[in-house]
Amino acid sequence: MTGGALQGARLLIVGPPGAGKGTQAGRIAESYGIPAISTGDIFRANVKNETPLGLQVKAIMAAGDYVPDSLTNELIEDRLGQADAVNGFLLDGYPRTADQVAFLDSLLAGKGEELTAVVQLVADRDEIVERLRKRALEQGRSDDTEEAIRHRQDVYLRETGPLIAEYGDRGLLLEVDGLGTVDEVAARVDDALSSRGIRPAAAA
Ligand code: ADP
Repeated sequence: MTGGALQGARLLIVGPPGAGKGTQAGRIAESYGIPAISTGDIFRANVKNETPLGLQVKAIMAAGDYVPDSLTNELIEDRLGQADAVNGFLLDGYPRTADQVAFLDSLLAGKGEELTAVVQLVADRDEIVERLRKRALEQGRSDDTEEAIRHRQDVYLRETGPLIAEYGDRGLLLEVDGLGTVDEVAARVDDALSSRGIRPAAAA
């Protein structure tokens, strides 16, 4: 890194369900001064507000299927074109397919940009299952059975595994131990990002 102005960080965050990804995404966005963009949140808001996009994806989401790449890519192109994303962003839940990986690459390349890093929260499957099982018991969420929890972990590994391998090959992956308190994990994320020259925005 040269000493000039810090280039905006263009980041992805990936991690298994239950690893506190949403929490860390919000914190990273705040301290690095970039928007956290969750495709799941955007789709859910569209469904709730019954927008044309929401009406299109409602049944797909209810069935637990993926929204078609064409719609998802269009959504991301539009969102990354907005003013607050010009100097960097943190994507959560995108890309999820090989087609989306390729689309994001070409979208960024078209602006002379590329991804800066991919933060991967890593957590032992058994520990996550135990943690979520306890939470389900405490909150009386009987739908969160151990079997359902394990299934979601397996789906995550199957779907995200190839993407993680791809970004690993490109040397973009920053593995962060996702077990511990929110602050402990946050400190590890900061360390990992600073190893790439990415530092929090100066406090106002
Ligand atoms: P999860 O509940 O699995 O963590 P999200 O909250 O990220 O998932 O997304 C909820 C739903 O939104 C997904 O099940 C899918 O229907 C849709 N969705 C979100 N991101 C994508 C994506 N990148 N590609 C296709 N569909 C997506």
